[in-house]
Amino acid sequence: MPRPIRAILHLSALRNNLSIVKKQAPDTHVWAVVKANAYGHGLQRIWQCFEAAEGFALLDFNEAILLREAGWQGKILLLEGFFQPDDLQQIDRYRLTTAVHSHWQIKAIEEATLRHPLTVYLKLNSGMNRLGFAPEELLPVWQTLQELPNVGNVVIMSHFAHADDVEGVEQQLAVIRQASKHIDAGQCLANSAATLWHPQTHGVAVRPGIILYGASPSGKWCDIANYGLKAAMSLRSEIIGIQTLSVGDRVGYGGRYHSDKTQRIGIVACGYADGYPRHAPTGTPVIVGGVRTQTLGTPSMDMLAVDLSACPQAEIGTDVELWGQVLPVDDVALAAGTLGYELLSALAARVPVIIEK
Ligand SMILES: *Cc1c(COP(=O)(O)O)cnc(C)c1O
Repeated sequence: MPRPIRAILHLSALRNNLSIVKKQAPDTHVWAVVKANAYGHGLQRIWQCFEAAEGFALLDFNEAILLREAGWQGKILLLEGFFQPDDLQQIDRYRLTTAVHSHWQIKAIEEATLRHPLTVYLKLNSGMNRLGFAPEELLPVWQTLQELPNVGNVVIMSHFAHADDVEGVEQQLAVIRQASKHIDAGQCLANSAATLWHPQTHGVAVRPGIILYGASPSGKWCDIANYGLKAAMSLRSEIIGIQTLSVGDRVGYGGRYHSDKTQRIGIVACGYADGYPRHAPTGTPVIVGGVRTQTLGTPSMDMLAVDLSACPQAEIGTDVELWGQVLPVDDVALAAGTLGYELLSALAARVPVIIEK
């Protein structure tokens, strides 16, 4: 019998989530963001669930080539663009769309010998100060690109730092509007949060990631609870040990949980080497035999402890959901001081994956 931990991928949830995105952004193209191995779900396993998207957005050439070799003939966008001039040969060969965010890339495009004109996503730094040209550079750079024989269509791209919080998008949108006032080009601006909550940003294409996997861009499940999005990954295991604590007994490394009563606890075959966050404190939610209860103490590499006070019927072999369709990954992430993004994309390679149609 294998160790009972496994990740279940709900393919119908992925399809459902894409259809919800399309309903939220009906008049624009959708780039399904599948970077980081499809946010930990496995690009190879799940890409076909997003065939109804106009394209895939990712970072790694390997992932782009994987999609081409698997048969995807539609668009593929490189969100960070290319990393050295030679990469343009791969871009040309595999017909990839590329972000352009730096002057050296423009020079490389000018000097390359390409078979097809490139579609370029010209990246504007509108305030996040990560990648992109400064607002005052946008017009001259756009004009330069217009004159290059290697360049076909150009779309203006930017990224929001606050689409998921109270600050919103208006400040950055004002920068984008000003910088592109004399530029006749489509715009691609929206991540998941802007796709859901700021329809004025939709432009010619949106770039949702996390909502396709059924987690919240804000880190709070309640913010997406009413859209019909479904968790695409469930992390499940079982109780493999039971202990009965007396008053004063402690649990796990560092003894960070002290029992103040006689208490039954369960030991679950899941630890931080499976991708469960080691920083999850006592009180992090977990589902045991269908009942919502809590973790106790610090998770170990391969195991963690759960409170069985609320589930006296639990025994060895009882099913545990660490996160998934009953317990939102956002709730676990919130307790552990992180986001669903980090937990999903950190699913460890040793966890067996089961595909559920
Ligand atoms: C990751 C990423 C996205 C998707 O972000 P979500 O918050 O997951 O929707 C969109 N655009 C760019 C440039 C990204 O890097």
